[in-house]
Amino acid sequence: MQSGQITSVWVSALVAASLASAPSAQTPQYDLVIRNARIVDGTGSPWYRGEIAVRGDVIARIAPRIGAAATRTIDAAGHVVAPGFIDIHTHARRGIFDVPTADNYVRQGVTTLVEGPDGSSPLPIKPFLERMAATRVTPNFATFVGQGSVRDAVIGPVNRKATPEEIDKMRTLVRQGMLDGAFGLSSGLFYVPGTFTPTAEVVELAKVAGAMGGIYISHMRDEASGVLDSVRETIEIGEKGGLPTQVTHHKIIGKANWGKSVDTLRLIDEARARGVDATMDQYPYTASSTSIQAALIPAWALEGGRQEVLKRLQSSMRSELRKETARIIMEERGGGDPNNVQLARCDWDPSLAGKRLGDVTKGRGLEPTVENAAETALWIVEKGGCSGIFHAISEDDLQRILRHPATMIGSDGEIPIFGNANPHPRSYGTFVRVLGRYVRDLRVLTLEDAVRKMSAFPAQRLGLADRGVLREGMKADLAIFDPQTIRDLATFERPHQYAEGTDYVIVNGQVAFEGGRMTAARPGRVLYGPSTAR
Ligand SMILES: [Zn+2]
Repeated sequence: MQSGQITSVWVSALVAASLASAPSAQTPQYDLVIRNARIVDGTGSPWYRGEIAVRGDVIARIAPRIGAAATRTIDAAGHVVAPGFIDIHTHARRGIFDVPTADNYVRQGVTTLVEGPDGSSPLPIKPFLERMAATRVTPNFATFVGQGSVRDAVIGPVNRKATPEEIDKMRTLVRQGMLDGAFGLSSGLFYVPGTFTPTAEVVELAKVAGAMGGIYISHMRDEASGVLDSVRETIEIGEKGGLPTQVTHHKIIGKANWGKSVDTLRLIDEARARGVDATMDQYPYTASSTSIQAALIPAWALEGGRQEVLKRLQSSMRSELRKETARIIMEERGGGDPNNVQLARCDWDPSLAGKRLGDVTKGRGLEPTVENAAETALWIVEKGGCSGIFHAISEDDLQRILRHPATMIGSDGEIPIFGNANPHPRSYGTFVRVLGRYVRDLRVLTLEDAVRKMSAFPAQRLGLADRGVLREGMKADLAIFDPQTIRDLATFERPHQYAEGTDYVIVNGQVAFEGGRMTAARPGRVLYGPSTAR
C-alpha cells in the first residue's frame, strides 16, 4: 500500500538521521585527548599515569583510560603533563604588544603572565586591559595595581609624606584599580617613588586592596644590608593591612649579606606560625636585573625626575655620589667587582649590551678601579641610562629560598624581541631551569613540588579557582614536557636561546606550541581580579 511504503521510507530516514547525530565516530565526544601521560597535577601529589580529555577550553575528564573518540589525540609518550605555569611576577608589558605570542614564556610551558609588579602598573588599568583583550595574545594575562604608579600620579616623584587628602586620592586610585580588574597591590619600595613612602602609608592602601580580596606583593625596600628589616616591613604591611603578603623575587644581595636567608626565612616562618599569610616568590639565578640608575645610584639622589638627577650630577654633589656608588658596587648590587655589573641594554649605544662595567671603564681610557667604575656608572646615567645585570647573589641563599615550601616561582622577566640587546636570561629560562637544573640535575626539589610552585600555588595566591590544577572542570592550560631533557639554554653571555624539552603547550584548550614551533593559535585571555566591576 502506498501510504505504508511512504511511512517505512520515513522511518528508515529517521533511523539514519538519528544514527548520524548520535555521538559516534563521526562526532567525537572530545576535542582533544592526551594519552600515555605522566600526570603531575599541580597539588604536589605524586605523579600518576592517566589520560586527559579536553572539550572546548575545559578539562572534561581525567581517567586511567579514555575510550571515547576525540577530534585530536596527542600521545604524551610517557612524558609529564602538568598545569600550564603561572608567572606571578613579570614585566610582560615590555614586549607583549610587539611579540603577542610571548614565545620566550610559552616555550617554557608558561600559560599565564601576571603584570604590574614592583609598584609599577599602567594607570588607569581599564584601557590597558581592554587593549590587551583586543590584542590576540597567546598566554593569559593578569595584573596588579602599582603603589608607585599611584603615588606618582598623586604627588609625583618627591621625597615627602603624603597629606591625608593625598592618601585619600591614592585610596581611590587603588579602589579603581581593583574594580578595573587588578589582583592586588604591588609595591617597589626600593624604587622611586616607592622608596619615599612611609610604611603606614602603604598599609592604608593595602587595606583597600585587602578589603576587595586582593593580595600585597612587594619588591622590598632593601634586599642587601637591610633585608631583615625589609622582610619585617613586608610582614607588617600584611598584618596591619589585613591581607596576604608576598616578598617578591626574594634574594640576598651583596657578599657581606650572604647567608641572611636563614634569618629571612625564619621571619617568614614565625609570621606564618602566628597566622600572617606571608609567602615568597623567586627566580633561579644568582644575578638580578634592573636599571643601572636604580641599582647603583642612592635613592635620595633620584628625587624629582631626570632633570633633577642631572643637576645633582653636575653639581658639587658629584664626588659624594661617586663615593656612594663605589660603596654600592663593593657591598651591594655591584657584587664586589665592577665586572660583576653587566650592561643589558643601552638605547643610546646598543653596542654596550652584554659588556661588563669594568671593561666599559677601560674602554673609556680609565683604569678599571672601583672609583673609576663608579664614575662610569654616573656617566651612563648622564648619557640616558642602561638596564643592567648584577651578579651579587649566592647559590646557597638561592637554594635555601627555593626549598622553602612558601616559595613559588616567578621570572621577573619581560618579552624580549628575539636577538635584541642582552637581557637577563630569566625571561627565557626561569621555569625550565628549575625543572632541569634544580629538579633533575641538583635534586633540590622534587618534580611534583617544583610544578606546585609554578601552578597550584600561584593560582591559589591569586584566587584563580579554575586554573593551576589538573582536575575535571578546570580550564585546559597544560604543559607537556620531557623531564629527562627539559633545560634552559639562555646564558648571561647568550640570552636569546629558547628552552628545550617542552613538547606541547596548551592554552584554554588550544595547542599553542608543538613540534618545536609556536602555532597560529592565540588563545590567551585577560583574567580579572576578585573585585572586578563588569
Ligand atoms: Zn622587582
